Amino acid sequence: MFAIVPYVQGWVPPVAAIDIPSFAQFPWLGLVGWLVLLVLVLVLVGVIHWVRDTVDALEMVDEDWWVLVFGGTCGALLAGAMAVGWWALPGAAALLSAELFLFARRRDRLVPETKRFLGPGGMKNIAAECRTQWARAFVGSQPPAAPESLKDRFRNLGTLLRRSATKPSKSDTRSKPATPKAAEPDGTFTFLKKDGTPAIVIQPGGQARVSDNVRSAHLMLANAMRRGATDLHFDPHDKQYAVRLRVDGVLIDADPVPQEVARGVISAIKVISDMNIAERRRPQDGTFAVLNGDDKYDIRVASTPTSYGEKLVLRLLQTSGGILSSGLDAIGLRRKLLEPLREIIHRPYGMFLVAGPTGSGKTTTVYAALSEIDAKQHNITTIEDPVEYRLENITQIAVNKQADVSFASILRSVLRQDPDVLLIGEIRDRETAEIACQAALTGHFVFSTLHANDSVATITRLLDLGLDATLLQSAITAVLGQRLARRLCLECREPCPPPPGLIKKFNLKPGVVDHIYKEKGCDACGGTGFRGRLGIHELLTVNDDIRGLMTEQPSINDLKAAAVKNGTHTLQIDGLMKVIEGVTSVSEVLRVTT
Ligand SMILES: [Zn+2]
Repeated sequence: MFAIVPYVQGWVPPVAAIDIPSFAQFPWLGLVGWLVLLVLVLVLVGVIHWVRDTVDALEMVDEDWWVLVFGGTCGALLAGAMAVGWWALPGAAALLSAELFLFARRRDRLVPETKRFLGPGGMKNIAAECRTQWARAFVGSQPPAAPESLKDRFRNLGTLLRRSATKPSKSDTRSKPATPKAAEPDGTFTFLKKDGTPAIVIQPGGQARVSDNVRSAHLMLANAMRRGATDLHFDPHDKQYAVRLRVDGVLIDADPVPQEVARGVISAIKVISDMNIAERRRPQDGTFAVLNGDDKYDIRVASTPTSYGEKLVLRLLQTSGGILSSGLDAIGLRRKLLEPLREIIHRPYGMFLVAGPTGSGKTTTVYAALSEIDAKQHNITTIEDPVEYRLENITQIAVNKQADVSFASILRSVLRQDPDVLLIGEIRDRETAEIACQAALTGHFVFSTLHANDSVATITRLLDLGLDATLLQSAITAVLGQRLARRLCLECREPCPPPPGLIKKFNLKPGVVDHIYKEKGCDACGGTGFRGRLGIHELLTVNDDIRGLMTEQPSINDLKAAAVKNGTHTLQIDGLMKVIEGVTSVSEVLRVTT
């Protein structure tokens, strides 16, 4: 078709004047002609494979469409050469270049700045990508999991265009090691109502009669779960909705979707979560649950009106498996902290606080600690706002501000029910702090979290709330300061020499630590260089020295000095120890601790 247009207009490109043999004359094509054709086919196969790998790795929603566009162009290019001669190639090549340009622009929106093709350093990135693809196709060194032979690659060409969206793609093999089951998108996917009754069941491959909206919602949720996302955002803009995932604490852009598609998905989600779908001008919230294979997720939905339309945020909480089945072992505590911490939480009375900023994994840590206590032999009650993880054999109570049921009022009534262990979601005011301390002094063990920078700041924060110093002195047992740092991706982390500051800080002898690692970025980690997260901790065990310093006007420096004397490693030291272990990088530790 590329050749027809110039014929119609009576224009013949100058190359046609040169007598290049048409493919129709193939018996006379000659050795050079055949070699050119072979190279051409290889380049086209390469382009299609690269497009397919890229749409897989970046999980673009319209992947089949791209493969179709490039496959179609490449087919047309060959057909054109066959039908009307070699000079059809420049036109087709221009079309292919334009498509490649559009595709590169789209790809660039989904990858980190340092890996973009268009813009500064673009040529270097393109060259690097070509080398990677070359190594994959012919050397087979990278990645080790997919050593496809050239023969397979040709065989794949035919199946490329028939690939269906539901077929598990290559990228499905990567997932966080902690949740391998989440990598099975072809398991049964069930939407559950708030009360646990199944609302919609989607069987793998089964063409159940569900609407496009529900199907899109299913694909987006399954994708978010496969990537280990904790939140899924739908942000309205003037023409489309931006879709973003929070993975390892960082927001990542997924493919944007058109307004009408997003509105359909939002309506479907609102129906499942029992929200009023007609109401778009007032904030609303709702909940539903999902069974994805064997994994259960509770999903909290919050909608807010914005100037461009309704913004929806879904919080995904995995309620089975994961952290709750592995207890404190799973949160990345160093062995030196694990043992004293286990001893502390099994005491008959006292108070254990986890402190950190929002999103530092405080709740997960208190639950992990709580899950180590035998729930059959102890009366365990939790008071939360809202209930996040469901635990067996444990009484869980949600704070309801509308009904004027606060932490403090529930606490008072719970204390009359003979509890052994109490979990208070968060200490925010003096009243709650006081009742918690009194409970800790009267034969109960209290777990709670507090919004504070580190373990010493927790003590000053409680005193700032107006808590009586003598009450705090006798009640508090230990404080765990916490941050979440991203784990280095083991596929691509790069060795580098330890910086002089690190050598000096730990007094490292030459040759003891000859290298640490830094982040790089590969397909497995979506170019970020990180996969999964781990906690960075400082455990302050309250001894008599520290108790003595808890006065109405405590000196932070004295408290810190006493903590260090008592063997507490600060958050930063703990993080840098993990850098030396090779699980995270210096820049990441500094990002979360300063
Ligand atoms: Zn990587």
